[in-house]
Amino acid sequence: MRKSLLVLAFAVLGFAPAWASHEASGLAVPPGPGFRGGVVAVSHPLAAEAGARMLRSGGNAIDAAAAIQFALNVVEPEFSGIGGGGFMMVHLAKGQGSTFAIEGRERAPASADTRLFTNPDGSNQGFTPASTSGQAVGVPGTLKVVATAVQRFGRMRLAEVIQPAIELAEKGFPVNFVLAGDAQSARTSYYAETAAVFRPGGVPLQQGQILRQPDLAKTLRLIAAKGPDALYRGEIGAAIVAAQRATANGGKPGLMTMQDLADYHIVIREPIVGEYRGYRIAAMSPPSSGGLTMIQALKMIERYPLGDAAAGFGFGSAKTLHVMTEAMRLAFADRAAWMGDEDFVPVPKRGLLDPTYVRERGDLISLTSIISGTAPRGDPWPFETAQRPGRTMLAAAEPVSYAGGHTTHFSVVDQWGNIVSYTTTIEQGWGTGIMVPGYGFMLNNELTDFNFGFNMHPRFGGPGANDVQGGKRPRSSMTPTILFKGREPVAAFGSPGGATIISSVYNVLINLVDHHMTLKQAIEAPRISVTTAGNFIAREAGFDETEIAKLRALGHVVGDPADIGNVNAIFIDLRTGRQYGAVDSTREGGLIGLPKGHDGEEHDD
Ligand code: GLU
Repeated sequence: MRKSLLVLAFAVLGFAPAWASHEASGLAVPPGPGFRGGVVAVSHPLAAEAGARMLRSGGNAIDAAAAIQFALNVVEPEFSGIGGGGFMMVHLAKGQGSTFAIEGRERAPASADTRLFTNPDGSNQGFTPASTSGQAVGVPGTLKVVATAVQRFGRMRLAEVIQPAIELAEKGFPVNFVLAGDAQSARTSYYAETAAVFRPGGVPLQQGQILRQPDLAKTLRLIAAKGPDALYRGEIGAAIVAAQRATANGGKPGLMTMQDLADYHIVIREPIVGEYRGYRIAAMSPPSSGGLTMIQALKMIERYPLGDAAAGFGFGSAKTLHVMTEAMRLAFADRAAWMGDEDFVPVPKRGLLDPTYVRERGDLISLTSIISGTAPRGDPWPFETAQRPGRTMLAAAEPVSYAGGHTTHFSVVDQWGNIVSYTTTIEQGWGTGIMVPGYGFMLNNELTDFNFGFNMHPRFGGPGANDVQGGKRPRSSMTPTILFKGREPVAAFGSPGGATIISSVYNVLINLVDHHMTLKQAIEAPRISVTTAGNFIAREAGFDETEIAKLRALGHVVGDPADIGNVNAIFIDLRTGRQYGAVDSTREGGLIGLPKGHDGEEHDD
């Protein structure tokens, strides 16, 4: 349980604490002097150190992010790596500033179709067989993301940013409580190569044990020498293609070929941009549903003074949690119907955020009752001014997203003000559980983020927006986000947690903007999560139970306390230019700030 007494005290006393000053952006400035030479906020201290090392050697935020990603592959092998994918949101400070996402979502092999997750009799497979066999492995994108990012936007070479990871894999590092806990998962036991590394002698890794990964070190050295082609056109790729033929738990072999790897491309995408109470939000665009869903919900609640305790709102009040919930239910109804990989299906991005459409959707929220049953989807198409030609492949019915999942989000700002907000994943903890034999990294199960089976669209017919198609990217919930005041970035954050990601980012953003919390408070304050159009609220420990009882009296179904997400974030004080960071206490966390010039004292949380 992460929620400290400190947080409980905040919940009782309310925000904002007296010592939090308010800066030019209107947000609360964290305590302390901050930094000017860059900040990295990561879930693991050794990965944070890898990033800081790049910043110290003259690298920028992109170089640091690449080093962090490679190091995470070693020290958090269960969450992300070159066998997976993710979204690197970048803000380049130069000139007027530019913000874009380097999208490295896994793709379905070309020969995949809607039968990918069906049994021979046409029924859908269960999640365990589907997700623990090669059939779930999407063509990975992460190596192409970091290699391209470094080449195009970095100041260092791939061979330099990968070096800390090689050292960690070769020399080993002490297993922390997160890895030791995850090593106990059944997913480390299905395949011999995986078990040999993470259950040596049949015993899951213990905290404090030194983990060396010589196969992974060899793979990383190969990449340092030959670049991403070692994977997309070379021997690592051949090993992936062979490994994803493996099956467990009655699942099916994978369909990936060397051609699928050679055809893989990343995409530079424009973020979804929205305004909320005078702040500009840049969040992840399709194939993620994160930006659209979160910004739609924010626009629906903008009419309520969420920060005003005197009006019955304020942090943690039933009234605040109720409107946050209802907006998310409505947004998730639209997510299920309209969101997927827009390279394959038109996604009505403008319609979904059109002011009239969002106002009409928001009118469905009542302060005195809940939307009964399942929140209805709307029809954003009449509001879609982009006027893309109609196609038949448009919609999806949604299987309820499972909670949990893993993934990592980290944030970096450098001395020049460049920012990276990066969510990276192999989907479930340990992905499929398949380690590439002889190469030491795990293969994702990202394709289970597609709908299973075939879903008829109620308006246009045809298979759904998130149904499997060859070459398509499964819909994600990952929501790397950068918050701006005018043109100036003021914070960057994101989270793991499957569909709960959207809620975690939504909660943190509301905490910053409406409740004037400092960054650390905004992260540590208890969160609620809503992941469907149905009536269920997951929540963390630390809310006032009287308020929870009021939610139940309204008709909401509220779960027992459980941790939600892991948010690692940076913040910039617009008045002084000083940089801050905060890490979430649900993982070990690594926060490093550097003084300008990088030769002074450091702060390591
Ligand atoms: N597969 C998830 C997504 O892309 C991320 C994994 C997780 O955090 O559960 O939305």
